[in-house]
Amino acid sequence: MATLIDGKAIAQKVKEEVALGSQKLVAERGEDARPNMTLVLVGSDAVSKRLVDLKAKDCEAAGITPTVIAMSESTSEEKLLRLIDRLNRDDDVKAILCQLPVPDHISTKRLLAAIAPEKDVDGFSARIDSDDYDVAACTPAAVMRMLRESGVDVAGKHCVVVGRSNIVGKPMAIQLLLNDATVTVCHSKTADLAEHTRRADILIVAVGRPRFITGDMVKEGAVVIDVGMNYIEGRPVGDVDFASVEPKASKITPVPGGVGPMTRAYLLVNALTLAERRAK
Ligand code: NDP
Repeated sequence: MATLIDGKAIAQKVKEEVALGSQKLVAERGEDARPNMTLVLVGSDAVSKRLVDLKAKDCEAAGITPTVIAMSESTSEEKLLRLIDRLNRDDDVKAILCQLPVPDHISTKRLLAAIAPEKDVDGFSARIDSDDYDVAACTPAAVMRMLRESGVDVAGKHCVVVGRSNIVGKPMAIQLLLNDATVTVCHSKTADLAEHTRRADILIVAVGRPRFITGDMVKEGAVVIDVGMNYIEGRPVGDVDFASVEPKASKITPVPGGVGPMTRAYLLVNALTLAERRAK
């Protein structure tokens, strides 16, 4: 039976670290130095709204001041980009987050590119050519921390990442490389996916298809990290078929209670880092 990697418990520890860091920053540099985060929500998608509410609550608990800006579904790309531009130039705004997905008529690429890197709390603009990952993409940073906290050293291991998105798969592969793993990245055009996943010491799955990875695709004793967050009849389901994979894995993340809460916790880490940088 696999050991569960408890994302909720590790996230709690991370949040406490951020709350202490934020307290220290304010004690040393005054109230003006307090970290803050502006969360932009476009449209009325219930899951996105719930996530923004949770993120704002997380901020409050960690001594980070949240501001939520809700815009209607019909907001034009131009209007949204004007808002981002205003936030970029507002000295009081230290961190900006745009909740994804945005409505189809808005280009996610243009939107994310518009956020100033020094305010990009999601870490989507993190450089890939450096090991100076002070503000890293949240989900990969969260996964690295979960591995460390679980005593898993990636150095020299064969890590297989399924998914190559700009926000999860690619930055995940980079972070693993920066930590001396040997990395294979798979995607929708990969021939014989199971051939690759079966060779993984550490398998990280970010595909967006419920229960996509099954027990026959996993090596005995592998560490399995399920980034996937899909909803079936309103309930969260991962990309990994937990029932068939768990008996083969040595360690595994659950959904819910795995990578999700840790990704949110790493938003707070990034918000603190951005505020600390600003205070310097
Ligand atoms: P994207 O849709 O942007 O990327 C999905 C990736 O999976 C693509 O690279 C795609 O390949 C690949 N893929 C799709 N089908 C297959 C297949 N049949 N075989 C192999 N690879 C395939 O998703 P994201 O990276 O944004 O998110 C992935 C999942 O992680 C989603 O469920 C999302 O909700 C979840 N997520 C969870 C977070 C958390 O905090 N827990 C945070 C962020 C995301 P190709 O490039 O060829 O199209």
